[in-house]
Amino acid sequence: MYENLLARFLRYVKTETRSNPESETIPSTQSQVDFADSLKQELIELGLENVHYDNNNGYVSGTLASNIEKKVPSIGFISHMDTADFNAENVAPQVIENYDGISEIQLDEKGEYSLNPNDFPSLNKYQGETLITTDGSTLLGADDKAGIAEIMTAMEILKANPDISHGEIKVAFGPDEEIGTGADKFDIEDFDVDFAYTMDGGPLGELEYETFNAAQAEITIKGKNVHPGTAKNMMINALQLGIDFQNQLPEDEVPEKTSGREGFFHLMNLSGSPEEAKMSYIIRDHDHQKFEARKQKISAIQTNLNEAFDQKRVFVDMYDQYYNMREIIEKDMSIVELAKNAMLDLAIDPIIEPVRGGTDGSKISYMGLPTPNIFAGAENMHGRFEYVSLQTMEKAAALIVKIAELNAG
Ligand SMILES: [Zn+2]
Repeated sequence: MYENLLARFLRYVKTETRSNPESETIPSTQSQVDFADSLKQELIELGLENVHYDNNNGYVSGTLASNIEKKVPSIGFISHMDTADFNAENVAPQVIENYDGISEIQLDEKGEYSLNPNDFPSLNKYQGETLITTDGSTLLGADDKAGIAEIMTAMEILKANPDISHGEIKVAFGPDEEIGTGADKFDIEDFDVDFAYTMDGGPLGELEYETFNAAQAEITIKGKNVHPGTAKNMMINALQLGIDFQNQLPEDEVPEKTSGREGFFHLMNLSGSPEEAKMSYIIRDHDHQKFEARKQKISAIQTNLNEAFDQKRVFVDMYDQYYNMREIIEKDMSIVELAKNAMLDLAIDPIIEPVRGGTDGSKISYMGLPTPNIFAGAENMHGRFEYVSLQTMEKAAALIVKIAELNAG
């Protein structure tokens, strides 16, 4: 059933598709356009209908027609094509069969990098399984090529097994998730399903429908620079104002001191001179009211600092990035229940926890298409220690099939 899954996954990860935050194009890199084209060919070969690439948003999509008379809700499955901000040139995956769950796995030939269960206790879970790792010089890109391979494999299984009843299923593979822009132009009218899932979570069992509310604030501070020898009562040091700004934020509400549903302000950049300073913050909270209060706090500090001067010194450009999808999903929890029941049918323990981040589904849900997130399997994403279990990918493919089957009633 899964005989093509490993080869498919290895082919995908060897294809370089890193996104580029500096780019103005959609997708941000040509390599993603080329990869989308190969996925389009593959969807056509698998026998899906209406396979097309949307020039406007970089998504390739296709439809698996219903094989039942009864009208049931249509379901979408979505994954992203790009890889994170880490070397992705010449990915050389290693396949370790029948891993014993306790040994150290050498990544590179020199022995500089290894996966050691002391550093990465998650390895213990994978006794007897086939692991795919990097060679230490790149990331793997299982985030999110595992998701693409699982969706493709599930479509192949449904095509090859017409006795499995299912309604209309649509799939979409999109660009630029890692740079936070990929879903901005997703076309829910063209996709036209009743609900969807992103296959972009981590380890086995993850099922997520709660994300952060997110905003970014770019602060510019204009100082007044004069010779330090004659600066008394004249100099306004923009860097000092920046420090004052930071010091007015609650010191314990930062990423390194929060977990669970606790929100934060995160100072990501501070640079400048006495003349001008710039700061960037990201603001995160699961709770909508607390999120709004955090943004008001930023504005209040700005006002407070500016009041000390006869002209405006502190400028804030603050904008929302995405919202907690829970507010949308909660209106109809049957979507979460369907995925959960499919997991239970396959003896997978559902792990339902709030994400301390966002997913493409955070944006797509607010466009009107409820889209929770399901595990794709990757561990240690975004770096050289990334790995994935083949058996987890098989279970994810089986889960897609099971969701389609349960949905058909
Ligand atoms: Zn991802």
